[in-house]
Amino acid sequence: MSKLAIVWCHRDFRLTDHPALSAAVAENKKIIFVYIHDPESEQSWQPGGAANWWLHHSLKAFSASLAKHKASLVIRYGDSLETLLKLCEETGATSVYWNRLYEPALIARDKVVKKSLSESGIEPHSFNGALLREPWTVSKDDGTMYRVYTPFSRKYFQLPEPELPLEAPAKISSGHKGIDSEPLEELGLLPSIPWDKQFDGLWQPGESGAAIQLDLFLEHGVFAYGVERDWPATDGVSKLSPHLHFGEISPRQIWHAVRFHGDHATENGFPDATDKTLPYLKQLIWRDFAHHILYHVPETSDHPFNPKFKNFEWDRNDAVLHAWQRGQTGIPLVDAGMRQLWQTGWMHNRIRMLVASVLTKNGLVHWHEGATWFWDTLIDASLANNSMGWQWTAGCGVDAAPYYRIFSPARQGERFDKDGAYVRRWVPELAGVPSKHIHQPWLASEEVLSKAGVILGQNYPKPVVDLSATRKEALERYKRLRQAE
Ligand SMILES: Cc1cc2nc3c(=O)[nH]c(=O)nc-3n(C[C@H](O)[C@H](O)[C@H](O)COP(=O)(O)OP(=O)(O)OC[C@H]3O[C@@H](n4cnc5c(N)ncnc54)[C@H](O)[C@@H]3O)c2cc1C
Repeated sequence: MSKLAIVWCHRDFRLTDHPALSAAVAENKKIIFVYIHDPESEQSWQPGGAANWWLHHSLKAFSASLAKHKASLVIRYGDSLETLLKLCEETGATSVYWNRLYEPALIARDKVVKKSLSESGIEPHSFNGALLREPWTVSKDDGTMYRVYTPFSRKYFQLPEPELPLEAPAKISSGHKGIDSEPLEELGLLPSIPWDKQFDGLWQPGESGAAIQLDLFLEHGVFAYGVERDWPATDGVSKLSPHLHFGEISPRQIWHAVRFHGDHATENGFPDATDKTLPYLKQLIWRDFAHHILYHVPETSDHPFNPKFKNFEWDRNDAVLHAWQRGQTGIPLVDAGMRQLWQTGWMHNRIRMLVASVLTKNGLVHWHEGATWFWDTLIDASLANNSMGWQWTAGCGVDAAPYYRIFSPARQGERFDKDGAYVRRWVPELAGVPSKHIHQPWLASEEVLSKAGVILGQNYPKPVVDLSATRKEALERYKRLRQAE
């Protein structure tokens, strides 16, 4: 008789390229799929509202997909280790399989789980299902961690290509019989105030939603990505981030699907410099890089990677922070981004950089405030990517955009949203403002504004900060920081 195994699912809600599942199937095990809701183990970075919305729907889609294999997902709420031990006792399971996660609190938890399961006579088996390469497998020639992206990515192109993804098991032998499961609704993942109502039509959480999104991108976006990824009004990016975060698709699946579309391979199998898919592959490596940093310097979710910045003179500026959160700063491109975030749970990367720069370098508000807001409102909120993105923009992280490089909303608008389509889409009160003034309406004459139906300070705010004066102030503070070295 085949033995019973638990496949402990965390953020790997898929059947294809699921190394833990494939290993259990290869061992001929009868499988019990389990999701344990244990947000407390994530300590101060428990998933926020938007991510929980995604999680709810992802769990629902995963359960439906298991049902097609005559299997089901057992949902439990509580401490991971206690729940696993209890489940092994209830069912007679003798092994637990899972794919690893890399947040510092979860690494610590999983170490304890592994040890305690072994001590209880239950075999623990863990795998890499979430990254192209795990953080400890890539290091500089002297064995230390990478601190700069470019040499890190160069290393990827010297190493053999990431392994091919695993096929979904043709047959899963379900060991689930009469095991108690919490109803999904009991986890309380959906918001009580329905601020998420627009998400439903926009996103399709789950493995098939991820596959559809990837196909769309391969068909329409991947070759133009190198150019169009910076235009927030177009569909120039893949929008795969929430699917990747919840493991509805693996980075290896995406990597190889994109590689298959590329041409111009070099001798070692990698795309050469002229291959138009290269810019996209490099973004997947950025994701690994963020995990590399968080793994080696776990404090970066809360403290600056560059310790000098511990003494930076941040301001407590609630007026700026609140205006920024609500998309009411009076700086159109920032407001467009913050409203896109609130209404869709996602924001374009170029605009993420801009809004983060304006908050930290013009508002002089601590980057942690911004990271916390993103954490609660992003459907793709990822501790590694979010911490790296915020610190990079604030100038205190790896590969830091040095502090003196301050994004100008007007210049960003001119370069990447020339006709103002993005601003018009998300800030409809400015829809009638001519393109020449759309990114700086405060410089337009009253006549131009009144023709467009805009009265600054009444139906659209005046800028909440003086961009030029705050820029100078930020540079002064940076200078003081350097002088104090
Ligand atoms: C301040 C700030 C905060 C951010 N917070 C997050 C976050 O919480 N979660 C998150 O997934 N990304 C975050 N990013 C990175 C990036 O903005 C998003 O990954 C990207 O916008 C997601 O959209 P996409 O899937 O269409 O990306 P694409 O451009 O299609 O890229 C494909 C994939 O590559 C990865 N990727 C792309 N850019 C980056 C990057 N700069 N860093 C790390 N990985 C990257 C993502 O997994 C993404 O899904 C942040 C960036 C900044 C500047």
